[in-house]
Amino acid sequence: MQEFIPHRKCVGCMSIKPKKELLRIVRTDKGIFIDSKQKMPGRGAYICKDLECLKLAMKKKGLEKSLKVNISKDFYEKLEEFLKKLAVKSFDAEVWE
Ligand SMILES: [Zn+2]
Repeated sequence: MQEFIPHRKCVGCMSIKPKKELLRIVRTDKGIFIDSKQKMPGRGAYICKDLECLKLAMKKKGLEKSLKVNISKDFYEKLEEFLKKLAVKSFDAEVWE
């Protein structure tokens, strides 16, 4: 049996990649979150785990367009920090809040 692998488009570089290789950003009733487990309900957008893609997404307002909401500078900073930590091997994305 062939396994179905869901693919999603990065809001930065626009390339299509397997969902699990991307970082999910979710819009919920309580605001915007980094959904590292890809399990939170809400409208989601995906981005490569790459700072270059974050820069592109900011420039093109890819996240705003995809989630149909304004994204604060604070959230972008949080996302940037998250991606920088992801680059460090010891960082466990599962415990991120
Ligand atoms: Zn990308």
